Amino acid sequence: MDASSKALQRFEDALKYWNLSLDEVQRERFIRLTKLMLEWNEKINLTTITDPNLIAVEHYLDSVAPLAFKLISEDMAVIDVGTGAGFPGLPLAILCPKTIFTLVDATRKKVKYLQSVFFELGLTNVEVVWGRAEDLAKRKEFREGFDVAVARAFGAIDLVWECTLPFVKIGGISIAYKGPKVDEELAIGERTAPLVGGKLEFVHKFILPTSDFQRTLVVARKLSVTPPQFPRSPGIPEKRPLRSLTTSGFSEVQKGGNG
Ligand code: SAH
Repeated sequence: MDASSKALQRFEDALKYWNLSLDEVQRERFIRLTKLMLEWNEKINLTTITDPNLIAVEHYLDSVAPLAFKLISEDMAVIDVGTGAGFPGLPLAILCPKTIFTLVDATRKKVKYLQSVFFELGLTNVEVVWGRAEDLAKRKEFREGFDVAVARAFGAIDLVWECTLPFVKIGGISIAYKGPKVDEELAIGERTAPLVGGKLEFVHKFILPTSDFQRTLVVARKLSVTPPQFPRSPGIPEKRPLRSLTTSGFSEVQKGGNG
């Protein structure tokens, strides 16, 4: 067995803990994906993780975690905001061939890579869009057009919510992929969700099976229409995060003398 088949076996063993499995086509797609990503990674910066075993756990297994909690199902439309090298969107799209995935990134060369990958893997349920979330969320075809928005390694929770919830239909959810330390961030950020039409609903803390990596999925439900001023112009959600707009956020800033 070569290195990438062995790594894939590890991925499949771990998936069993979540009652998930791969068919032959899906297995081939993951093997091909690893190969393509490592090839392109020589030319453009896609991932710092290059060991196929770690790719299998830290990228693939981590990406599909929402399936363990039944957060994504068939016939949904899902948007991955800031997908980078296609995480979590690509592994989810391979596992859920009947779910439609829109992968968004602001970096053109990553989008070019993704276009070539979904073509080579023969994925028919993936669309790749180049652009900034702040701009795309204003477009009619994207705004409030998705059942689920996902974002991994995108930034603080209020930045995630401002850049994901405008894409989500009322009743849908935003899923933020986080590491183990989220409590402090949520204590400060939780009250910002209503500004963009959401409400923190659930925090799933878990360990990736067969590893000791701790992860958290932060789920916010879209309860009302996002006011049209959100998301603000490109860069502003990061520079002046939502928490600085809430009353106590302001006083914290003022106390700090920056306000
Ligand atoms: N989700 C991937 C990549 C995380 S790095 C992963 O978990 O591996 C963050 C990515 O978000 C980068 O690829 C960057 O180009 C993209 N990004 C940052 N701000 C963005 C924005 N406002 N709109 C769209 N993409 C953005």
